Amino acid sequence: MAEPHPQHLPSYLDPANPGPWAIYLEQVDRVTPYLGPLARWVETLKRPKRILVVDVPVELDNGTIAHFEGYRVQHNTSRGPGKGGVRFHQNVTLSEVMALSAWMSVKSAAVNLPFGGAKGGIRIDPRQYSMGELERITRRYTSEIGDIIGPNKDIPAPDVNTNAQVMAWMMDTYSMNSGRTTTGVVTGKPVSLGGSLGRVAATGRGVYVVACEAARESGIEIKDARIAIQGFGNVGGTAAQLFHEAGAKVIAVYDHTGVVHNERGLNVPALQNYVHEHGGVAGAPDADTMTPKEFWSLETEILIPAALEGQITRDNADLIHTRILVEGANGPTTPEADDIISAKGTMIIPDVVANAGGVTVSYFEWVQDFSSFFWTEQEINHRLEAMMRSAYGSMSKVAREHSVSLRTAAFIVACSRILEARQVRGLYP
Ligand code: GLU
Repeated sequence: MAEPHPQHLPSYLDPANPGPWAIYLEQVDRVTPYLGPLARWVETLKRPKRILVVDVPVELDNGTIAHFEGYRVQHNTSRGPGKGGVRFHQNVTLSEVMALSAWMSVKSAAVNLPFGGAKGGIRIDPRQYSMGELERITRRYTSEIGDIIGPNKDIPAPDVNTNAQVMAWMMDTYSMNSGRTTTGVVTGKPVSLGGSLGRVAATGRGVYVVACEAARESGIEIKDARIAIQGFGNVGGTAAQLFHEAGAKVIAVYDHTGVVHNERGLNVPALQNYVHEHGGVAGAPDADTMTPKEFWSLETEILIPAALEGQITRDNADLIHTRILVEGANGPTTPEADDIISAKGTMIIPDVVANAGGVTVSYFEWVQDFSSFFWTEQEINHRLEAMMRSAYGSMSKVAREHSVSLRTAAFIVACSRILEARQVRGLYP
């Protein structure tokens, strides 16, 4: 990775360990030559609009008081309110939340949603805490960030280790504090509380739709295509299910418990039931195990990293033999790994389009909450598929026009849209 230009690294990040924000800065640098006169505004993209770091104190079940670090970063709001998830993870850092908030700005613009980008996080391993403790932590965090969120300001959603229940607590806390029920303050809520049908499966469905578009362009039949997936949660699990139903062979799944592999194709519904009972894929029947290194070395038509960022680096990029890499996770491929894999002729569908299905149905949920009129699941899936295909098409067209990678193309489309809005709004006050 190239050294980020010192003037772009804020004083509050450690230059010796700048984290994912440095990856994002490098992606912006790669796209700047293609922005034409809008490049005048590019510095906007290199500085988050607003960063809030909060202390989250909470009484644990054993009577002691614990403190957690919480963040909400609003990267850009030129095109609309901030939008993006909240993650609970023991390794959450400010640099990570900043990068994720920026990728949300790019993602919303790449799909042409009327949102900016934001992200939140709490530095916590949620598996160590009871439901009651998680509820108190979520409510205190929501109160602490309450001034800067709202249906017209910044709309949180689920992300790694957060779900519809966490969103219900956030929505309730915000509503109780403001004295009125405001369903549109978060998306990814339970359907009984103004949530949208199809939201849970949306990210995985979007991954599947763009992978099918890329396969079609590359002359690959989905039927019998070999698929390997890292991550078997909301994103990887849904994508696996849809590929399985389409007749593809999901030959390997790698989650936090290990890797399972079957060259003839895993029985995905059975694996889902197994994971439901055992908490992970390790030990699942009708499959052999392999090391992570063997997983990355598998020959496949489609490889889907759908876990955390920074999984494909210069250390394992050489091993990868796939035709299409679909980034279900946010930021799974480092820029160096991206270069190594692209040089082999592998097509990389970047996260900002590949996993945009989630925020797209979040947008539908927000619209439905404002109008208090709810759509059918069929209507939602139909609109989702149309928007994902259109985003894929715009990206692919720009990639061909400029002879650039799909990632650079997605950034050209998105950054141009953001900076056009920035320019036409002007600097005020
Ligand atoms: N956390 C998801 C993402 O990274 C969804 C965000 C949203 O729906 O606002 O795209």
